[in-house]
Amino acid sequence: MSKDTVQDGLVVSMDYKLTVDGEVLDSSEEAGPLQFLAGYGNIVPGLEREMAGMKIGESKDVVVSPADGYGEFDEEAFMDVPRNEFPSDLKLEEGIELNVTDEDGQNQYARVENITDESVRLDFNHPLAGAELHFNVKVVALRDPTKEELDHGHVHEEGHHH
Ligand code: ZN
Repeated sequence: MSKDTVQDGLVVSMDYKLTVDGEVLDSSEEAGPLQFLAGYGNIVPGLEREMAGMKIGESKDVVVSPADGYGEFDEEAFMDVPRNEFPSDLKLEEGIELNVTDEDGQNQYARVENITDESVRLDFNHPLAGAELHFNVKVVALRDPTKEELDHGHVHEEGHHH
């Protein structure tokens, strides 16, 4: 198997820049290349698909639609929760992100949209839902995953296990 192009089951190191509406939201410039395990949904589907077959050193501009990115903005993805259901020591502010557990025991991120005396309105949309994502990516390196990384379906950064 040729290991010099991006393919499922390889760990890809990439430099990237994410621009939305002309504004750079994220890049690898400071933290260094991002590693991900290709084929395991570690990055948004539209980018993962477009990176398949790229060679080391190759760079590419990729435009990802909301459906292939962080999803369409869902007007229904809001919930009003009685204020007394939040821990009393939690400092509630509009705009903060909370990790909430739903009825099925799943952890989900939600943003506090609005607070009244009685209730708190939570927004379950991803902050980038509805956004067209403009990536500039460059493949820096490729390697085989460790057995543990393959079992877990994600990359273990040095000295960091989760
Ligand atoms: Zn792990």
